[in-house]
Amino acid sequence: LRSAVLKSEKSEMVSQLAASLSHEVRNPLTVTRGFLQMLKEPSLDGRKKEFYLDTAIDELDRAESIIKEYLMFSKPKTDSLSAISIKSEIVKLLDLLEPYANNFSVKIQTLLEDDLFVSGEATKFQQCLLNILKNCIEAMPNGGNLSIESFKSGSYASVHIKDTGIGMTPSQVARLGEPYFSTKHDKGTGLGMVVVFKIIQEMGGTMETHSNIHKGTEFILKLPREKFKSI
Ligand code: ADP
Ligand code: MG
Repeated sequence: LRSAVLKSEKSEMVSQLAASLSHEVRNPLTVTRGFLQMLKEPSLDGRKKEFYLDTAIDELDRAESIIKEYLMFSKPKTDSLSAISIKSEIVKLLDLLEPYANNFSVKIQTLLEDDLFVSGEATKFQQCLLNILKNCIEAMPNGGNLSIESFKSGSYASVHIKDTGIGMTPSQVARLGEPYFSTKHDKGTGLGMVVVFKIIQEMGGTMETHSNIHKGTEFILKLPREKFKSI
């Protein structure tokens, strides 16, 4: 099933990524603080103590995953635009993701064209791909295949990312990129795809999603190609 191209209206909802990051992280920190405060109570029974501690830890984990979704790779200063090699960025990312994929018994196959460059900030491009790839892996809790292909198509670079996971219904596909849309309950932030759409938009690209429930999902990114590698 096909979904519309780029969700620019949705991206605009969170155009100030940094501002919304601090907002997102504040909630779990506030909750954690509250539970730590309650732990100071000397008459607290053991079960309550355990519950407060577990909740505090869960909330801190949540804050951490929100931060990862937004700026796993970002530096204090924004990168300058440069010619990014799609192949080498993907290869770097896969090193990082390999243990995660192994945990899910996911096999990764790649077919990556050499000399394929796009223009953008390398750290943001990595973040974008990471958020997509993580979702694909998480969609295959019982193992599966993740395939990544990149190739030239006219003035664009195409990146096809395909999993054999749980897939999505048409209405789930339509909600991709909507802030807080997540089917992962406590484990999801519903912010990863917001960041993905935002970055693709910034790079002047588009993304299509094809998904079949119980079969899998394919994301097709098209990004304006940078013809020459800058020195
Ligand atoms: P999160 O991963 O924290 O839930 P995301 O914004 O990254 O938030 O993704 C939003 C939702 O989109 C996921 O919860 C999931 O329902 C759906 N989704 C994204 N990618 C895939 C995929 N490859 N396969 C199935 N569902 C997906
Ligand atoms: Mg995600």
